[in-house]
Amino acid sequence: MPHHSPLIATIVAGLVVAFLMGSLAHRLKISPIAGYLLAGILVGPFTPGFVADTKLANELAEIGVILLMFGVGLHFSLRDLLAVRKIAIPGAIVQIAAATLMGMGLSWIMGWSLMAGLVFGLALSVASTVVLLRALQGRDLVDTERGRIAIGWLIVEDLVMVLALVLLPVLAHIMAEGASGDISAIIKTLALTLLKVTGFVALMLVVGRRVIPAALHWVAHTGSRELFRLAVLAIALGVAFGAAMVFDVSFALGAFFAGMILGETPLSRRATEETLPLRDAFAVLFFVSVGMLFNPGIVLAQPLALLAAVAIILFGKSVAAYAIVRAFRHSGRTAITIAASLAQIGEFSFILAALGTGLGILPADARDIILASALISIFANPFLFSFVTSKKETEEEGEKQEAKPAPRPARNAHTILIGYGRVGSIVAAELRQRRGQLIIIEDQPDQASRATEDGFEVICGNAVESRILKTAGIAHAGTMLIAIPEGYEAGAIFQRARKIAPGVRVIARAHSDAEVDHLRELGVQDIVMAERETARRMLAISAVRAGAGA
Ligand code: AMP
Repeated sequence: MPHHSPLIATIVAGLVVAFLMGSLAHRLKISPIAGYLLAGILVGPFTPGFVADTKLANELAEIGVILLMFGVGLHFSLRDLLAVRKIAIPGAIVQIAAATLMGMGLSWIMGWSLMAGLVFGLALSVASTVVLLRALQGRDLVDTERGRIAIGWLIVEDLVMVLALVLLPVLAHIMAEGASGDISAIIKTLALTLLKVTGFVALMLVVGRRVIPAALHWVAHTGSRELFRLAVLAIALGVAFGAAMVFDVSFALGAFFAGMILGETPLSRRATEETLPLRDAFAVLFFVSVGMLFNPGIVLAQPLALLAAVAIILFGKSVAAYAIVRAFRHSGRTAITIAASLAQIGEFSFILAALGTGLGILPADARDIILASALISIFANPFLFSFVTSKKETEEEGEKQEAKPAPRPARNAHTILIGYGRVGSIVAAELRQRRGQLIIIEDQPDQASRATEDGFEVICGNAVESRILKTAGIAHAGTMLIAIPEGYEAGAIFQRARKIAPGVRVIARAHSDAEVDHLRELGVQDIVMAERETARRMLAISAVRAGAGA
């Protein structure tokens, strides 16, 4: 039976091949983005075998961009930025300028237009949030001073890019009109764009800021998870689409604003969680579609230009960042961490490249060089990063962290608590009353900083990683409480911990009989099944009431 469903074929091929390549990247301990891009190249028109529909892939990718930008907006934190503004703002701006100029220089040598040079340079100047956060998390640096500076720096980069995405189409338009020498037309275009953007921003700040949180609040109170999820998606996609249709601003800007407004509400955490699965899926399709555009022939056609672009990303940008951080009198180590974490390019570069080619200002060669150098820089980044931030230094800094109340325990049997959510935070508060030392492991940065604010010693990272467990001193811990909702993940943590500390006592949380069985098989002695405890407690209360009533 012949099937002709290009949309389904594109989604399925994209996701399946991305899964295979992503798993491979995971095995090789490199960013999965590299795997997704590779998957795109495999299903793309430049390699033999199955070829997915490029046009459809691009449309799917747009949804990915919207959700990615919505996520950037949700996480945009003015507070984080203000805390490090003195260095992050000038640092990022000077670095972007330096890298853009280097890129424009290369573009000039290649004989591309000025506008092409600008897009090319900007694309080389901006680092990938995904790659940077992974690098910092992998080294337990998110909560350190240099980690915070790097993140603040990235926020500024993101903001500059949001601005660039708005201005580039206008600039391209102006350049086209400038060629005809019509000044009044240029001014008209500029004024019109400014008016539209202002109109959109004003509408969002005045109306959106009231209506969106209120609507979400209402939906949250209906108690329907499904409706809440739908509401978040409707807001993200609806605002982005509406902004593009009515105000002619990019999807990206619309989604960023929708995210930023939601980010201010207390429901933002849930909103993030609810959109995460869909965002991940479409972000993968975005990376795949970028890979599909890539012509690997560029490696042979323009090897020198590619090498120069890679050098700009890996060394040009780093040297600039290093010099700026040093100029602000930070230590050499801080400077080198920040320089290394920014020595890569990623999603924004792809968005810029797509926009540039879409507007007809960026030659295909330039786009291919951006993609190839992104791939190389993403591959190289983990190695570069571990080369400059040796493990020993990380631990030293961890110990120096003044925010942490107590030094890491040396050999007394302390308690390790994993997860500082609804369950973990209550456990922690209670344990504080008792004697003995407590170390918390939490992998969500915002939850981790909440625990730090509450005065606990916290390690931000995933407890499934043995390295994180070791940093928490599992080898000489007495008890480990696994207060996370995923029973199977708890099992994985238990196995890692037992390998290092066979004698540690473990209490785990579970939510289903299957999880309880699994944990018991692994050898966890104490398992608390949340639903069963809730049931017991309900029965106990009703018995007391019944007794009192009789
Ligand atoms: P709750 O279900 O509200 O008690 O929240 C569970 C908490 O555990 C959340 O804050 C999660 O971020 C955290 N968590 C889940 N898995 C891990 C993990 N593997 N390592 C560290 N923290 C985790």
